[in-house]
Amino acid sequence: MYRTNNNNVLLITVDCLRADRLGTSRYSTNVTRNIDRIASEGLLFTQAYSVAPWTTPSLVSILTSTYPLMFGGNLSITSNRTSVVEVFKRAGYKTFGLTYHPWLSKASGFGKGFDTYKDGTETYLRHHPKYPLLDRMIFMVKSFVMRLFDRLGLSLAWQILRSKGSFVDAIQMTDEAMKLISDLGKQPFFLWIHYLDPHWVDIPHQIPAKFLKLNRIRFALLSLRRERALRTRSLLSNKDIRDLITIYDSEIALVDYAIGKLLYSLSNLGLLDNTHIIITSDHGEQFQEHSDLHHGYYLYQELIHVPLIIKTPCFKAAVVDYPISLIDLSPTILDLVGLKKPPNFLGKCLMSLLRNRKDVSPVFSEEGETRHLKPEVDLKSGIIKLNLNAKQICYVRNGWKYIYTDLHKNELYNLTRDPLEKRNLINDEQILATKMREVIIKHTQFINSFRETERQRVRKRIMKLKTAISRPP
Ligand SMILES: [Zn+2]
Repeated sequence: MYRTNNNNVLLITVDCLRADRLGTSRYSTNVTRNIDRIASEGLLFTQAYSVAPWTTPSLVSILTSTYPLMFGGNLSITSNRTSVVEVFKRAGYKTFGLTYHPWLSKASGFGKGFDTYKDGTETYLRHHPKYPLLDRMIFMVKSFVMRLFDRLGLSLAWQILRSKGSFVDAIQMTDEAMKLISDLGKQPFFLWIHYLDPHWVDIPHQIPAKFLKLNRIRFALLSLRRERALRTRSLLSNKDIRDLITIYDSEIALVDYAIGKLLYSLSNLGLLDNTHIIITSDHGEQFQEHSDLHHGYYLYQELIHVPLIIKTPCFKAAVVDYPISLIDLSPTILDLVGLKKPPNFLGKCLMSLLRNRKDVSPVFSEEGETRHLKPEVDLKSGIIKLNLNAKQICYVRNGWKYIYTDLHKNELYNLTRDPLEKRNLINDEQILATKMREVIIKHTQFINSFRETERQRVRKRIMKLKTAISRPP
């Protein structure tokens, strides 16, 4: 362990941030000046992979160090999954979470272990505990309106209406985070802040003018064309794609500015040198590299190759060029502050790479939805369950990537020679393909046996409860 006395932890996740957007990846548009500076002072992992290509499964995996397809695809942080936040809470840290994301709701367990957790749901799903009937009626009307908008092909408009009350931009979030920290006193803190801005390339919310380099009317019309392309699976023109990338980069620039502001405030409070700062992302974003937009559905690089920077008082700056999985992130953070990882965390500490031991987890990413098979979503609670019939798993090793799917053709890419994954070598490299597929099948067997054990455990618990209830007093 690399214990440093009760240092603070600041976990920053930026929704949809692709690894190739960082200046350290030589991206031509300079949108991440502050993030790049932090990277130059900390540990930069150039080959970090998210465990899933969309928000909820990826963040469940980061916080609980488990795989999304375990627990039958249930993406809630239920009692049999421990969140890293609970470990910090038990160790006496003050714990804050700011996400303002309805898919990361308290109802799905994301608030577990937090002293203060803001998921934004309270702003549009107002509960009336005294009036459950009224609550139910409001929910039914909202569901009806949403379906109606969807039928009319206007889900974008619904999103605008819905997000109007719940979306909190990076600047507001940063101000809120700093207020929480400055009111804290000397108690060590764990703060998770999830910046959502780059997610909303489809919603013309108020990006400050200095970051938005696109006329607002063009912006709104482009959003509508994007919405139609997503619905009909048609392709946008190259010009539209360039404009979408401009919006996306503007959002990243805004978040980068907010991160700079956050660190400046930490420095003013004298907290910068005793805080472990982690910057990463839940997944990337597609701009038709593989004929689609948005995120989810696939496991290509633009969706799962993410940034990871750890600036810590424990280690000097270094670049780590080894493929790693974010399933190892929470065990690493706990190790940095000298806390023991819970037994149900599957990941390992990434710091072994700095000692050339390479004792880290294999890189798997998983998906449980396709264009045709979606996850089950309970709109009221926000609880989401992956569709196991849409299972896809990829495995990355030694510059190669195998994508295994139950539904379509399997794929093998040489990431060194073909980083854009344009040439499927599954038939040309059969020996390697067989070896990599065997590793994935073993991983699947592990997931299945875990699920079976969990099923039996739950069954036993139910039997015990039934016996206790039926026993006469
Ligand atoms: Zn996301």
